[in-house]
Amino acid sequence: MKEILPNIFTFGITLPNSPLREINLYAIKTKQRLVLFDTGYNMKECRDELLSALDKFGVELSDVELVLTHLHSDHTGLASIFHDAGSKIYVGEVDGNLTNAMAEGSYWDMMLKTRDHFGLEPNEVTLEDNPGYQFRLRKPIKYITLQPGDIFEVGQYSFEVMDLIGHTPGHIGFYEPHHKFMLSGDTVLDPMTPNITYWGADYPNILRSYITTLYQLKDLDLKVLLATHRKVIENPSERIDEIIGHHQERLQEIVDMMEAGRAYTTREVSAGISWRIKADNWDEFPKGQKWFAAGETLAHLDYLYHEGFLDWDEENDVFYYTKKQNNVEIPLPVVFQN
Ligand SMILES: [Zn+2]
Repeated sequence: MKEILPNIFTFGITLPNSPLREINLYAIKTKQRLVLFDTGYNMKECRDELLSALDKFGVELSDVELVLTHLHSDHTGLASIFHDAGSKIYVGEVDGNLTNAMAEGSYWDMMLKTRDHFGLEPNEVTLEDNPGYQFRLRKPIKYITLQPGDIFEVGQYSFEVMDLIGHTPGHIGFYEPHHKFMLSGDTVLDPMTPNITYWGADYPNILRSYITTLYQLKDLDLKVLLATHRKVIENPSERIDEIIGHHQERLQEIVDMMEAGRAYTTREVSAGISWRIKADNWDEFPKGQKWFAAGETLAHLDYLYHEGFLDWDEENDVFYYTKKQNNVEIPLPVVFQN
């Protein structure tokens, strides 16, 4: 437990067997309130660590106010213990709906549909291989919706709620303009890059949306990003540039591995590009990581399609992408002003 800014405490919750290692939780303590951001997975190890951390604040669970930055299970998995205690829970509208869809099941039907889009076989990866499914919230929660532009006051801090679409469709951030920091969830991480995946036809070209979010962050007067995995980010603008550059490189790598005029599935492209995961080839990939890798690839293919570099076709729910011509140079993504 560390007081990172006056009255803002941070502590890690172990995420067993996850390359993320830990989630960084943040708690703001005032005389009357304890406001906690995110929860850890719905599993015993996380629950024990979370409860023992909250114990140190000497508050009842029912007195904790919980804020969820986005829907992922490592952030929402334990929300039900707060729901059951009658705590107030805040979340953005889009990810609030999707969080409850995860608990109810319809979200996972969408994931299975996406597996078909990837061109993966049903026995190649199952929902049980996905840690988000294994450690999900099991029943819907009652929550208070936060909208972009809302002011969320906690003690001496006055946060502006921001739409950070990208890592998830309804990810929100909490910008504190007077103290020049933001609780930014999984939007900017260091040293890893946040997973950007495919979210269906409702969120076309989400990689473009994510990069637009990153440029919006660069325009803010910001000294520190309180990130939810690994490092607190003290060079936001520089780190954001690195992440945008990373996506440009990935996009280039994808078009370079494709032969013009030939149709590829997401699975084939995923198997043909490099990954930091230790595996000799796609078949050796840990199954849980196949979900993330294929999602990441499809988000990039969808970007290349929307930006005019690839053609797209669908047959029996499988997506096919074809490069229009050889020797394509992918420019650094920039923001189009409205
Ligand atoms: Zn996340």
